[in-house]
This record gives sequence, C-alpha cells and structure tokens, in this order.
Amino acid sequence: MSATTAPSSELYAEVLLPLPLRAVFTYSVPEAMRSELRPGSRVVVPFGTKKFYTGIIQSLTATPPELSSVKEISVCLDSTPIVRRSQTELWDWISQYYLCAPGEVMKAALPAGLKLESETFVETAPDFDTDRLSILTERELEVYQQLSHADRRLSIAELARSTDRRSVNSIVSSLLDKEAVIISEKLIERYTPRRIRCVRVNYPRYDSEAHAKAFKSIRSGSKQEKALLALLALSQFMRPATELTEVTMEQLLEKSGVAATSVKELEKKGLVEIYRKEINRFSYDGTPTRPLPTLTPQQLQAFSEINQCWHSTPITLLHGVTSSGKTEIYLHLIAGALQAGRQALYLVPEIALTTQLTKRLQQVFGDKVVVYHSKFSDNERVDIYRRLLQRTDPVVIIGPRSAIFLPFASLGVVIVDEEHEPSYKQQDPAPRYNGRDAAMMLARMHGAKVLLGSATPSIETYYKAKQGRYGLVTLTTRYADASLPDVQLIDTTAMHRQGLMQGALAQPVINRIKKSIADSAQSIVFLNRRGYAPIAVCKMCAHTPHCQNCDVALTYHKRIDRLVCHYCGAEYPLPRICPQCHEPAVEIFGYGTERIDLELADSIPDAKIVRMDLDTTRQKDAYQRIIADFSQGKANLLVGTQMVTKGLDFDRVDTVAILNSDALLHQPDFRAHERTFNMLSQVAGRAGRRGQQATVMIQTRDTSHPVLSHIVAHDYQSFYAEELTERQRYSYPPFSRIIYIYIKHRNVNALIDAARIYTQSLTELFGRRVFGPDEPPVSRVQLLYIRKIMLKIETNASMKKVKQILLDLHTRLHTTHTDQMRGTIVYYDIDPV
Ligand code: ADP
Ligand code: ZN
Repeated sequence: MSATTAPSSELYAEVLLPLPLRAVFTYSVPEAMRSELRPGSRVVVPFGTKKFYTGIIQSLTATPPELSSVKEISVCLDSTPIVRRSQTELWDWISQYYLCAPGEVMKAALPAGLKLESETFVETAPDFDTDRLSILTERELEVYQQLSHADRRLSIAELARSTDRRSVNSIVSSLLDKEAVIISEKLIERYTPRRIRCVRVNYPRYDSEAHAKAFKSIRSGSKQEKALLALLALSQFMRPATELTEVTMEQLLEKSGVAATSVKELEKKGLVEIYRKEINRFSYDGTPTRPLPTLTPQQLQAFSEINQCWHSTPITLLHGVTSSGKTEIYLHLIAGALQAGRQALYLVPEIALTTQLTKRLQQVFGDKVVVYHSKFSDNERVDIYRRLLQRTDPVVIIGPRSAIFLPFASLGVVIVDEEHEPSYKQQDPAPRYNGRDAAMMLARMHGAKVLLGSATPSIETYYKAKQGRYGLVTLTTRYADASLPDVQLIDTTAMHRQGLMQGALAQPVINRIKKSIADSAQSIVFLNRRGYAPIAVCKMCAHTPHCQNCDVALTYHKRIDRLVCHYCGAEYPLPRICPQCHEPAVEIFGYGTERIDLELADSIPDAKIVRMDLDTTRQKDAYQRIIADFSQGKANLLVGTQMVTKGLDFDRVDTVAILNSDALLHQPDFRAHERTFNMLSQVAGRAGRRGQQATVMIQTRDTSHPVLSHIVAHDYQSFYAEELTERQRYSYPPFSRIIYIYIKHRNVNALIDAARIYTQSLTELFGRRVFGPDEPPVSRVQLLYIRKIMLKIETNASMKKVKQILLDLHTRLHTTHTDQMRGTIVYYDIDPV
C-alpha cells in the first residue's frame, strides 16, 4: 500500500477519520474504485507520515480540493455503505451540540471491530553493515539483536514484550536515525467472522450412475453409508425440483448418529465436501411464551393518555411511582411500533438492567429482541451491527446509551427508562453526550415518538412537562395495590451515644435484616462506595496515601490487600510503615461495600450475601449471575453501590437499608439534592413490590434534612417545588444552561496561567456569566492538573452562537498566546449532570 500523489483525478472523497480533529480530509479516488465507493463506505487512507486509518466516506465530488497534493485512497472496504444517512446526521448533531470533533463521535459510534488500525512493524535494515554495529549503544544493540534473531518483522508491541523494555519506542527511533532498522505499517483487522462447518454431496445431482457408483464404494450398513444417507435426506438431494438445503456438520452428525471421522472418510473418497461458512454470531432464538400483559384500568388510562399526548407533542413523560407498571406500559407501546412495521429502541441507564428486562421482553416478543452493550465481545457487536444494517424488519433493541449509534432502519418509538439517571451522560472520553437527549434527536430524525419514564423525573424534564413542552402522564398507585414502603430515618448520632452502632450499621437495622431473613424474605443494603475502607491514614502524623497520578486518597481493597485509586485504577501496597514519619501506625477507616459484606456475614450468620459493585461485575456474565442468585432466593441479602438502585424488580425484598445518605446530600454540586432524592427514592422502591409491607431505613446524622423528609413522605411534588425555587434563586438549570470548560496541563503553573488567560478572555466576551476558574475536588487525574470554568447562559440566548464564540476563542488564544497555550488540553462539558 503506498500513498501516491494523484495528478488530476476526476473523483474526490471527503473522508471522516476517527481522530480528534475538526476537519474532514479529501482524498482522490483511484480509477478502479470509482464504481464501488458510496458515501457511508469504509476506506483505508494514509494519514500523517506512516499511519493508515479506516475512515468513512462523507461525500464524493468532482471538484478538486485547493491543496496541491492529494493522497489516494488505499483500500475500499465496503461496496455497500456501513452507515446509514440518519446515523451520520446524528453524529453531526452530537459533534456540534457537544462541541467535539466528528471523528470522536465516529470513534464512539462504530463498534471497535469495524475499525482497522495500522500497527508499526520493525525489521533490521538489509543494507546495514554489521561493521557498524559499534555505533549502537548497548540498549540499541539488544533490540537490534532481538530483531535479527526473530528472522521476521516484529510489531512494536512484540518487541516491547520480548525485550522487556518500556522505552522501546525511543530505542527504535534512534535505531532508525542510525539506519539500522526499517519500519513498515500493517493494517490489523480485529473482526473475525464466525465460521461453521457444512457438508454437501460431491457428485452430480440426478445422476443415477454416479449415485450407484458412490454407494458401491462404501460398505452397506457401515457408518459411512449412514452418514451419506442422512446427508442425502437433509439436503433434499434426491428430491426433484427442490433447492438444495444447506447442511451443517452438527445437523448431519445428529441425524446420522455417527462421528465426524466417518464424514471425513467420505470426503477422502471424494463423495462429499466439507466446507466452512461464515455466519452471523447474532442469531435469534426463542419464541414468545407469554402474551402482552393485560393492563390494569389505571395503566390503560395512562397508556391511552400517552397516545393522546403524542398527537400534539412527540415527547411524553410518564411519571409513575416505583412498581406502578411502567415497564408493562412500555411493552404495549413497543408492541404498537412493531405492529406498525417499525423498530423500537428501549434505553436503560445501566447494563445490569438489561438482564432482567431482556427476559421480560423475550417472553413477549421472542426473537424480535436485540440486546446490545459493551459486555459483548468486539466480534459479537459487529455481528449485531451488521444484522441491523442488512435487515430492516421490526425488532426492539435494548441497551444503554451507546445503543443510539446502531443502524436503525425506521424507529417508531424510543423509550428512555429512568430518564433522570446521570449515567446517561458520558463523562470521558468525548463525545460527552447525554444518551437521553441524543435519543430524542435520533427519534426526531426518524419521526418516532419518545416516552421518558421515571418515578423521580429530573428537574429539567419535569419542568418542561409542566410547561407543556412535553406531554405529562401520571401513575400514582403501585400494581396490585401494593403500598409504598414505610421509610424511617435512623439517627446515627443518637445511636452512637447509646452504643447501638455496630461498625457502620445501627442495631435496629441489623435487627430488621435478621427479621427479614427469619421471615424468608430478602434485604438490600445500599452504600455508595466500593472497596473495603475509603481512608488510610497514619495515626501519628496524619499522612494519607494518595495516588501518584491523581490528587485523590486511595481506597483499601481487602481481597487483593492493596490500595486502589478509583480514578485511574492504579494499585499500591498498603504501607505498614508510614512513609512520612516511619512509624508502623497506618490504619484504615470508613466503610465500603466490601467491608459491609464481610461485617454483615459476621453479625448475621444466617445471611446468604451477594455483592454487586464495579469490583464484582467485571466479568461478562457477572450481573446475570448475581441477579439470578438473588431472584431465585439462593441469596437473601444484596449489598451494593448505585447499581442496586436502578429499576431492578425482585419479588421478596421487604427491607432496604441506606448507609451513607449524608455523603450524598453534601456533595459540592448544585444537583446534590436532586441526585440524593432520586437515588434514595429509587432504592427504596426496590422494596415491597409484591404487596408485602416493607421497611426502608435511612441512616443519617441529619434527621431534619428537608430532602430526607420528602423521601419519607414519598412526596415528589414538594421536593420538586422546593428544588425549583432554589434553582431559580441561583439561576441554575432549568433557568439557565451550563457549560463547563475544562483546562488541563501536566504542569501546575502553566495550567494556572492558561486558566487565567482563558477566564479573562471569557469574561470579556460573556461578562458575569463566567464563574471560576475553580480547582475541582479532585484536581489532578492521570498526571494532569485540572481547572474548571463555568458558563451560565440565559435560556433564551442562542446556544449555537455561544458555542461558535467558544470555538473561535480557542483558535484565537492559540495564536495570541501560543506559548501559554502549549500543552494545554481544553474541552467542554455541555449540559453537565
Ligand atoms: P415499574 O416499571 O413502574 O417499576 P413494573 O412494570 O416493573 O413497574 O411492575 C412492577 C411489578 O408488577 C412487575 O413484576 C410486573 O410484572 C407487575 N405488574 C405490573 N403491571 C402488571 C399487569 N398489568 N399485569 C401483570 N403484572 C403486572
Ligand atoms: Zn490515580
């Protein structure tokens, strides 16, 4: 593959590359590819000095670009487009709205298996004279010898492994300078299609002579004969005027009852052929096992109200208390879309939720259910993607936010369950989009209806619904007249005074869990912190171990007996001797889920505990296993982080304990109250879902906190009214729109400088709408120091203009303050949550 300069080609392609660059690049189309290429096809193009990337053709044009030298497209990967028009429209919208590069959106949107990347290979230079080996340093020599021994070219990664050197990049580059090695680029294809073995008859059909000859060559009654007879039957080989049916090896072995060796013998005799066939890993199975649920009169009412609302506005909010049957209503809406021949998208905030919902959906829709999320392998994701690209029949797709990027043919309805969930927002890396909001845009492009569902709608959504910009439908009763749980506040200060705290748990909470277990019921304990203990500190000098890459205290994990940074994942040993005062006085304090798990096992020996947090759900099927164990009653106590708060539906939970509500309430963020109200109401909502009287216990030091009293009273309306007043007073959303501008740098002084210049220029442009720069609570992550500037913009201002001003400012500062901007990273968080 070479990057030649085309003299005067007649066709040019604008190619989008998966890079954080704003521009689209133009390449010339070689003669041979002209008839093949379409917008939406993938091509491999050279970029920079040595690299090759997979890009997507955006458009084709005959007008040559203004540049004098244009590189040529190297390879065309698809003769039919791999992205639909509506997808690129969505990508454009996301990159404009969230102020990021189109290439960053493309990178997030395409499954990794569809992106080829080039890898650098190194080999010794054939014309490098061994006399000159003396000019190499010892380290260079080591690498050089490695290469000559290998007798083939090695990738940089292989080289790093075999020489055990991290600095292999710089060594290779000095070897290049000395002309001792040459490098080349090779494209790495990551997708491997799945192949299965099939068998077919290998002599002419309807040829009685050949047929007779075949049977003469095998012993009658033998295994080979059985196999051949089975193949003839399965493939309908002898039946006139019918198409041959493809037969897999598996089917053949099952039907004939012989082993594969017999089939191979037949192959040796030339009577059959064994071949491999590519198949899509994505294969549907299952037929519906239950009809659509009959809705209760209240649910039916809500269902018809939703349809009515959709006549006047395409977006409707279903505000229904926990366990009111929102999911059952979604099923009916999805069924409506499928019947109309269109597709449905069902977004959930968390992969854990797909487990239970997939089952519920499959019972009703059988093989029309498609699940998509990041726990699938690269290959599986490509297969699902291709499946949706090739076929356009009505299916319902369930997944977290990334599912919006699938190639939908025609969406009829989009459901965003638990629309208030902060996890719909992608934080890092770009695109920092909100899956809920992007889904509304996606729906608009398809002319689809949107239903947002929640028991605790976000303040912004509820405000819009109240204003009439969204439809609003309410469900106030739980299914089967189940009552809402009794919520109690447990005053931990008083408990401490009375000696009733047992570690992190108050005695009444422990007693309640014991009773629940004795009643053969189940409990959930929620604590928004993983690990064993969040604080390690020296008793003598108060030294606290911090991460070397991030400005953050480390959390102790007992199972691995190490301190872990929850920002970058770095691990450190727990120092037995304090590194500062050299005393053996380092102790750990506080509680995480791992510790609660162990202590509960101690204080309640009857408890069968499962834990659900990031640490226990790293493996692909972990969620499924934990949820299944708890649903089937193999466990009676579920301990977990916010993963247990969202949408799960269990039969026997009659007790929920919430341990650190104080930490949630006092987060330094204008959404702290909203987040606490939502999270605690949601986790409380996991209890008493089948009519049993359930108890929720919230441990707190602050029993008079107004947010907690709204949770106790199950009073969303009062909470909303109070919160809205606060938002208005300080002009936070929905009374303004917020943009955070993040500035990062490896050097703290350079960062302070850059942040100051930025803030000054922003203030010249936006006046009193600029706040900061602030040093965030965690002010250094992965070796980069961070400052944050907030922009508060009036809701009636043009956000488009604001964003253009920001982009222009960025470009301007890089020309006027080139030195101060060097090495700074700037990015934006639009509508942060
Ligand atoms: P929500 O989504 O509002 O939390 P769900 O839809 O999960 O509530 O309903 C709670 C429970 O009640 C579920 O187990 C569900 O199967 C059951 N349920 C709700 N409505 C019906 C109905 N109309 N028919 C049968 N079961 C129902
Ligand atoms: Zn770290």
